Amino acid sequence: MPTSRSSRSLLLLSTIVLLVGSNPPSPPCGESESVFDSRSQEKAFERLRLEMVRTQIQERDIADVTVLRAMQRVQRHEFVPPDLVPEAYEDRPLPIGYGQTISQPYIVALMTELLALKKHHKVLEIGTGSGYQAAVLAEIVDSVFTIEIVQALAGSAEQRLKRLGYDGINVRWADGYDGWQEHAPFDAVIVTAAAEHIPPPLLRQLKEGGRMVIPVGHPFFVQNLILVEKRAGKITTRTIAPVRFVPLTRQR
Ligand code: SAH
Repeated sequence: MPTSRSSRSLLLLSTIVLLVGSNPPSPPCGESESVFDSRSQEKAFERLRLEMVRTQIQERDIADVTVLRAMQRVQRHEFVPPDLVPEAYEDRPLPIGYGQTISQPYIVALMTELLALKKHHKVLEIGTGSGYQAAVLAEIVDSVFTIEIVQALAGSAEQRLKRLGYDGINVRWADGYDGWQEHAPFDAVIVTAAAEHIPPPLLRQLKEGGRMVIPVGHPFFVQNLILVEKRAGKITTRTIAPVRFVPLTRQR
């Protein structure tokens, strides 16, 4: 039930505040207070993450274990602005600056599951934002290419991903409408901004048998999340769910 779920997450959030704010018991021998503090914080975040996956994702019928495991592993609190860290595991998108947002965890899981990824797949993401979705992809596949149009976001996401050890992710500052020709074709393409139509270059750069997920519709209203498949040179599309994304903008 929504009420019990939100009261449960409130409870967990207050746990984290308590853990962060109170004096922890003496650290084990040979460890400094600060190491102990940060370990107990990490444990508290991990509990929130497991709870997020159970209540927001599994309960909404995401069953692919590779996706669930990836969502359990990626430290979402590292991808949000410092003042929003206490809200990092809540059931909603959060602002990341420059008028952009990090998507709701469930939407990240749904889009990832729709791609039906295998470890050897090469994935292209349009709309790096914070880098969170790219990190989730990189927990599943060996190589991720991600393009961001806002230079400051591309720079900060690249640094963050490097710091967190995601070496298999390549970040580029560019207009993602044109895809990334040098590394094409891709087994999967994920667009995390709302497009008015499916960009033809992205269709061309999709491998035979490949999948693309993209929100399509009016940029300032509800869009449809579309699953695109390329089989025997033919494109098929399936509407999955109504969604709301920030617009896919173009570089002039
Ligand atoms: N996937 C992100 C959230 C996406 S928000 C995350 O996990 O945090 C959408 C992002 O798409 C924004 O950062 C926006 O700047 C970017 N964007 C919009 N139009 C774009 C374009 N044409 N090419 C590349 N990125 C674009």
